[in-house]
Amino acid sequence: MQKGQINVTSDNIFPIIKKFLYSDHEIFLRELVSNAVDATQKIKTLSSKGDFKGDLDDLTIKIKIDKEAKTLTVSDAGIGMSSEEIDKYINQIAFSSAEEFLEKYKDDKNAIIGHFGLGFYSSFMVSKKVEIKTKSYVEDKVAVKWECDGSPEYTIEEFEKENRGTDIILHIDDESGEFLEEPRINELLTKYCKFLPVKIAFGKETEWKDGKSTETEKDKIINNPNPAWTVKPADLKEEDYKKFYKELYPTTMDEPLFNIHLNVDYPFNLTGILYFPVLKNNIEIQKNKIQLYSRQVFITDSVEEIVPEFLTLLHGVIDSPDIPLNVSRSFLQSDTNVKKISNHITKKVADRLNNIFKKDRDTFEKKWDDLKIFVQYGMLSNEKFYEKAKKFFLFKNTEGKYFTIEEYEKLVKTNQTDKDKNIIFLYTNDADAQYSFIEQAKTKGYDVLEMGGQLDSHFINTVEPKLTGKRFSRVDADVIEKIIAKEDGFESKLSSYEEANLTAVFKSQVPKQGTFFVNFEPMDKNANPVLITQNEFMRRMKDMSKLGGQPNYYGDLADSYNLVVNSNHELIVRISKQTEEAVGEEIAVIKQKIDAVTKDEEALEVLKKDKKEEEIPQEEKDKADELSEKKRDLENEKEELLTKYGKENKLVNQVIDLGLLANNLLKGKALTEFVKRSIELID
Ligand code: ADP
Repeated sequence: MQKGQINVTSDNIFPIIKKFLYSDHEIFLRELVSNAVDATQKIKTLSSKGDFKGDLDDLTIKIKIDKEAKTLTVSDAGIGMSSEEIDKYINQIAFSSAEEFLEKYKDDKNAIIGHFGLGFYSSFMVSKKVEIKTKSYVEDKVAVKWECDGSPEYTIEEFEKENRGTDIILHIDDESGEFLEEPRINELLTKYCKFLPVKIAFGKETEWKDGKSTETEKDKIINNPNPAWTVKPADLKEEDYKKFYKELYPTTMDEPLFNIHLNVDYPFNLTGILYFPVLKNNIEIQKNKIQLYSRQVFITDSVEEIVPEFLTLLHGVIDSPDIPLNVSRSFLQSDTNVKKISNHITKKVADRLNNIFKKDRDTFEKKWDDLKIFVQYGMLSNEKFYEKAKKFFLFKNTEGKYFTIEEYEKLVKTNQTDKDKNIIFLYTNDADAQYSFIEQAKTKGYDVLEMGGQLDSHFINTVEPKLTGKRFSRVDADVIEKIIAKEDGFESKLSSYEEANLTAVFKSQVPKQGTFFVNFEPMDKNANPVLITQNEFMRRMKDMSKLGGQPNYYGDLADSYNLVVNSNHELIVRISKQTEEAVGEEIAVIKQKIDAVTKDEEALEVLKKDKKEEEIPQEEKDKADELSEKKRDLENEKEELLTKYGKENKLVNQVIDLGLLANNLLKGKALTEFVKRSIELID
């Protein structure tokens, strides 16, 4: 037996390793199994090249737990090690690189914890003693047993071993008992080893016998050594992709929308399959589903640095031996290889979508509603993607038809160009709530887009400036006559005198919640008598500040609406007549007085003309003040009269409520009163 000191300068490196890596002990298993896989693949290569002439036999890697002995063993039938190799690779290289590693990352704990392999010596994180029993494939080499208890001392001795390969035996320490539990090991193997390229056995297959499940003699293989992404795309069918999706996410019920098979070998190596999933309401929880592998060894499922933010919504796997894993995250972010990978994936995703769109528009349209959010997210956050996606981004109108931006422009150009030569894209974000506006738009032959998605308002704001000569306007942003302003309008059936009187009458009944401005507009006589509109600009500003969560001027404003009265509607003309009958004479008298005051004011103006401020006599100034006060009083008197009258006019109340109702703004008590009043009016 030979004894030796592991060649490290620090007295005892293992306590440091244990402490340092304390939150991520579990990776030891990945490291040991990866080593076993490497050793197995090496013997395969040697054999295929004729450098190893013996039988390969069964190459399955076996993992065993012995609860009584408190050991966990990883066995392979790989190339094995001679005693010189143990000395070189384990005593010298493995342990000196451990020290190097700690030296390098001692200030960057995060770089170690979580993501990076520590190789063979990570086994000391969970063991009080580790044994290696190994026999080299080289015929004249004897088998050896190496043993180390975590101090820098090790022993190495000759040993009887029948088969080629290596057993790594961990004597699990008292704090790490979890790694002697079958379910825990199963969990780790599923996480890290599910797609390793060599068969891995753990436990036995069970079968149903005599009414209960019993273990058989047959080893249970826990991995799929040939996952779909390692197969040539030409050899895979749609079904295979779907099956693999299930394999990746056994608990998911939904089928993916599309898949993208990545297969790159220049300027870097990358394979993988990405899936567009059906997204649920909460985008956040859907993230971090892409798994990153390096030669089929699972590395991580947080891939933010490797794929662009908007693609973290995708599912699937990426496998690249070129992604530098043994470095810190900040390095990953600035690494040019990683950037290239990210750009490449973006391009691939856009190309694939474009391809499906071109080849199979039907399918593309069928899945568009689910797909839209990815495409929008990409267009909003990535200029390059925007440039590609603008060719296949689809608008959907209220009839459920789909158009590309270009097609849509052609569709609406003739009818929806306003007098300033802007094409107006009308949209709704809630087809039920804005139903009456949509109907109005249709009577004019206008088309209306459905834009009620999670990202739509953001999308409109961002995309609008890029679409020169086109503007978006929500259907309820103005009355239909003005939403797309044309040269010719309707003549009003009311005079401006009548409109002025009616303004006060209507003002008396506007709701107290929110701010309502009363306007008169000559519209089609068949349009509604009263419409409630919300200015596009103000609404967008308010929406934006809501999204931003920052209180600002627009966010603090009460909701403001325009109460637009159709001065051509028969009911409005009737209300005008009723007003005239009820208070017309009194108003006329006040009007005369106002006119008289106005005349006096005009006379004063003539006197003032051509005089400088200081040349105007005090007397004239006092007179002017007196007149304007008188006028104000008269105006108030008129207003009060009309308000008093307006408040009692049920028809005014009714038409305003109808307008509110059409916009879903009539609620609670007001709604109940409306219903009561309607019944009375029917009687
Ligand atoms: P790495 O795997 O990164 O090279 P390790 O510390 O895990 O570092 O292992 C050091 C070396 O020990 C390996 O490169 C390999 O030569 C040898 N080795 C480890 N495990 C095995 C094994 N199961 N069979 C054969 N050789 C092994």
